[in-house]
Amino acid sequence: MVNNYGLLGGTLGHSLSPKIHQLFFKYTAKKGEYNLIESDLQHLPSVMQILKSEYVGCNVTIPHKINIVPFLDSISKEAKAIGAVNTIKFTSQGDFGYNTDYYGFGKMLDYYHVAIERKIAVVLGTGGAARAVVKYLADKNIDEIYLVTRDTNKIDKSFYKLASNLKFIKYDQLKNIQGDMLINCTPVGMYPNINVSPVTAKVSENFAVSIDLIYNPLQTLFLNQAVKSGKQAINGLFMLVAQAVAAQEIWQEEHYDNDLILKIINSLEQSL
Ligand code: NAP
Repeated sequence: MVNNYGLLGGTLGHSLSPKIHQLFFKYTAKKGEYNLIESDLQHLPSVMQILKSEYVGCNVTIPHKINIVPFLDSISKEAKAIGAVNTIKFTSQGDFGYNTDYYGFGKMLDYYHVAIERKIAVVLGTGGAARAVVKYLADKNIDEIYLVTRDTNKIDKSFYKLASNLKFIKYDQLKNIQGDMLINCTPVGMYPNINVSPVTAKVSENFAVSIDLIYNPLQTLFLNQAVKSGKQAINGLFMLVAQAVAAQEIWQEEHYDNDLILKIINSLEQSL
């Protein structure tokens, strides 16, 4: 019998997930097939019915990360706090939801030796990725988090439940802040609009490390600015692969170390 896995979302044409999971199956010798499953909101109940009977697990992406919650029997603590599920495991005891962006981000910080305790982080953007990042940093006892938004009149107050030591600011207030890590959780700089950065080069100078969740291109203008001022720069590829491997850890009930993540990254980089 084929072990079915997949990615459930709206429009999925350009997703890297099948390639990452196929590399996972290749390097671990696990049997599995990873399919793209497109569904609109209206068809979600019937699609979930099929997945529940034929799939071991699936990832979930836009626009269903929140819509999917009522279909599940229980969701993990961090997925509940973040308010989004990106991984499901279907079992005879029930269907369970998780958020592996949270774990992928953590694995990336560990791998690059980015310390969190007693540090100051600035997070750009207030979408789903920012929520996972803020929750992880707060759980690991970061000192202060500044969340940067284009419009402070539309602040999502639920962020305060993720972290008590959080301040919302606007982009023009950034020039006054010195911090340890600057994290881009906006899509600004992503292919094909690669000639833009969410902050000026002057802002990057005030942080020891810049982290971009974007992985296409691998070196965004945002990261170029950090490199030019002699700072550490980390792209989103490690997190992308680490969150996929974290999903496999849930499905396979096994732990995989960074060697596997690096092997998958190496193969991906050759084809990017
Ligand atoms: P999202 O919800 O679409 O947007 C994130 C936030 O970015 C928005 O809430 C908005 O915040 C800000 N933003 C959007 N357009 C902007 C613009 N033109 N200028 C300035 N700010 C803008 O996206 P997401 O799902 O959180 O993902 C964010 C990025 O992270 C994407 O590039 C995604 O590909 C990447 N990502 C990578 C990984 C990984 O594993 N590497 C995982 C998840 C996401 P305000 O309205 O408050 O300004």
